[in-house]
Amino acid sequence: MTHVWRGASVTRLMPSEESVELMSLVEDFAARELAPRAAEAEATATFPRDALAALGELGILGLPFEGQYGGGEQPYEVTLQALEEISRAWMSIGVSVSVHYLACFPLANFGTTEQRGRWLAEMIGGRLLGAYCLSEAHSGSDAAALSTRAVLDGDEYRVTGTKAWITHGGRADFYSAMVRTSDEGARGITCLLVDGAAAGLSSAPPERKLGANASPTAQVIFDDVHVPVDRVMGSVGGGFTVALAALDAGRLGIAACAVGLAQAALDAASDYARERKQFGRSIAEFQGVSFMLADMATAVTAARALYLDAARLKDAGLPFGTMAAMAKLAATDAAMKVTTDAIQVLGGAGYTQDFPVERYFREAKALQIVEGTNQIQRMVIGRALAQPRSGS
Ligand SMILES: Cc1cc2nc3c(=O)[nH]c(=O)nc-3n(C[C@H](O)[C@H](O)[C@H](O)COP(=O)(O)OP(=O)(O)OC[C@H]3O[C@@H](n4cnc5c(N)ncnc54)[C@H](O)[C@@H]3O)c2cc1C
Repeated sequence: MTHVWRGASVTRLMPSEESVELMSLVEDFAARELAPRAAEAEATATFPRDALAALGELGILGLPFEGQYGGGEQPYEVTLQALEEISRAWMSIGVSVSVHYLACFPLANFGTTEQRGRWLAEMIGGRLLGAYCLSEAHSGSDAAALSTRAVLDGDEYRVTGTKAWITHGGRADFYSAMVRTSDEGARGITCLLVDGAAAGLSSAPPERKLGANASPTAQVIFDDVHVPVDRVMGSVGGGFTVALAALDAGRLGIAACAVGLAQAALDAASDYARERKQFGRSIAEFQGVSFMLADMATAVTAARALYLDAARLKDAGLPFGTMAAMAKLAATDAAMKVTTDAIQVLGGAGYTQDFPVERYFREAKALQIVEGTNQIQRMVIGRALAQPRSGS
């Protein structure tokens, strides 16, 4: 049976009546509580922790996780569309939610029943906010070269090193951190769930970025942090597998954030083009403008279809990593192009801070870099094409 949801910007076919209601709830919350605050918070680099707490209370921070632990048990197809609507209102919040999912992923998917019973409900219930720590100053794209060291000492690890570029760095309540437990390259990495209040854990001041400054990005410093061995997620030495599996799902989240951002830019540009008159006519009537808007709408719609296709593979339990890389690549490149063209449609007005499109343009750039640059996505896709065909 088809369930139709008609949003302010997009009409969607949803898999259940419950998901239709969820989309309305999210759109309403985003329009009332997020969109009006975005410009000011971005300009003043203010992290809206209260908005994330409210999303936690609404169940949004646990949407894709198991019901047994208080999660929403929604398929990715639904989770991502909710994320897209949040990002249409305020991209930094969409990224925060996506990063929180990424941080919960190791425990939810690799934790033992005992570990999940102890920590998962608090995390996906949104009372706690998570961060995902993989990158370091000298290991970005080459993530397996990380050097933050964890040395076993009795029944705990003692962790020392510095993680770089960490979203929610210094603000998170827990960190899913990839650390080096031996010198065996990618097989010497272990994932630890680290308490944000642990002694010896600190953060540098947030980076001063081109955009998305309401989303804090900071170095996280581990100075002889003691982490009990029961906080290993998955196996010792299996942390890189955990990290990559989390990123496959995370890239779908970033794709949805990019589509939400691009949709916001398209909406702003088409609204403006209908109103603005030159040569006695609305500029939307000029083919030069109307073709630009047509290309923008097509790029947004194609990117949405691609992330949904990848999400449905994931929901069906099929391999989806290559499709996730394609979705991240296509959606974030589309967001960059669409936000750039939105400025062009607004002319001089688009270049000022009186309209949101210059901010969207600055925010789009980050999405081409995070969770694997778009060069790395092409590498992932290219590697899959170099394998014998398997239908996935
Ligand atoms: C706003 C923001 C938030 C972030 N949040 C997090 C977070 O929460 N957690 C986390 O762990 N990390 C986070 N990151 C880090 C992000 O994942 C890295 O910046 C990214 O993986 C790239 O690493 P790098 O910056 O070291 O660039 P480098 O790896 O140094 O790359 C520099 C350039 O070289 C290219 N390049 C590198 N290797 C290759 C190759 N083999 N082939 C072709 N081109 C290549 C890259 O594509 C890029 O253009 C964040 C980054 C930003 C900007």
